[in-house]
Amino acid sequence: MTILEDALGSNITKEMLHVAEIERIDVKKLMKKISKGEVVIMKRDNYQPVGIGNPLRTKINVNLGTSSSAINIDEEFQKVKIAQKYGADTISDLSMGGEIDEIRKRILEISSIPITTVPIYQAVIEAGSISNVTEDIIINVIEKQLKDGISSIVLHTGFNLDTLNKMKGKRIMKIVSKGGSLTASFMKSNEVENPFLTHFEYILELVKEYDVVINLGNALRSGCIHDKVDDFQFSEIKTNNKLAQIANKAGIQVILESLGGHINAKDIIKWVSLHKKLTNNRPLFVSGPLPIDIATGHDHIAAAIGGSFASGFGADYICAITPAEHLCLPSLEDIKKGLIAAKIAAHVGDSMKFGLNHLFTDDLELSRNRFSKNWKKQFEYCIDPTEPERRHPINEKICNMCGSHCALSLSKEIL
Ligand code: SF4
Repeated sequence: MTILEDALGSNITKEMLHVAEIERIDVKKLMKKISKGEVVIMKRDNYQPVGIGNPLRTKINVNLGTSSSAINIDEEFQKVKIAQKYGADTISDLSMGGEIDEIRKRILEISSIPITTVPIYQAVIEAGSISNVTEDIIINVIEKQLKDGISSIVLHTGFNLDTLNKMKGKRIMKIVSKGGSLTASFMKSNEVENPFLTHFEYILELVKEYDVVINLGNALRSGCIHDKVDDFQFSEIKTNNKLAQIANKAGIQVILESLGGHINAKDIIKWVSLHKKLTNNRPLFVSGPLPIDIATGHDHIAAAIGGSFASGFGADYICAITPAEHLCLPSLEDIKKGLIAAKIAAHVGDSMKFGLNHLFTDDLELSRNRFSKNWKKQFEYCIDPTEPERRHPINEKICNMCGSHCALSLSKEIL
């Protein structure tokens, strides 16, 4: 039985109990949400499961992995540790360089949170070139990745050859999703339909054996704010939602990846709200979205602003964007900065989505300790305690921002 089948049969599983306890939600309510496809649970053998979807805390994914031109495997393993240390909920291994099978296995060994993979990446490397990819290679890669113990897999299902033909000459940035562009290139160079659509039912059978969550990829996201959320994106949303219904009927949990990329700030709330409505509140995963294009080098900040509104109005799962976005493979420091920015965005989003519920007791305690100038305790409640500790020695009473004219000391005296 899969988790979804258990939920549909009113069987409470250990994964549901764990998620209900840490999210402080009634387990029967959680089970109902899972049965309706509104919440998914990613699980891993011997480790804690993670719940994603409303009304749970907004979750954060960190992307890492080698590329075909940057293969520093030890550094990628250190990124896994940094991602876990600073509170990532999940990791996506996007490796396209080196021994991909070995890298994935090692990432699974050294991590304890759910791992996601994107099979088209490895399929292209194994085939030697995009035009040499075959459907058999793709299926074989999916089977290998599932067997290794991943928790979620990305399938770029939301478009066909007709969509690609109609896109010719449209859009400034064309297709900016790597998985989407690889899949599209494979389709066009071989004049075949989308392999993830053609073999969708068979892939569901494979996935079901391991009870892995499928993440229907956002291949047609807009790559700049002047490329609007267009008919192509809208058709991807509708196609993926239909496929999600088919997968749910087969007992498989689904996350919809959508509305990532670059979206004009004023459209983020409208589109995210509409997406949740059109897809019956299915879990929504967004990458960014970046509300402006000119923050290059600081895209983690732009993404945090876009992500906070996306999360506040319905997105359940945010992919961290690093300062290296659009430039190079992220460094260790970039991974940390991107993750912290995404955590801030998710927390801001949760404050809009849920109000000041139990997720905000740390904010309350921090403020109390800030007022009483208990620096040590104050820093313990921060998203990233290392940064304030670096700037203010915890034993020093005075903060030199205002020195002897400290507003808190003065108001404490008079109020
Ligand atoms: S000195 Fe100024 S910045 Fe520092 S704690 Fe007091 S009010 Fe805050």
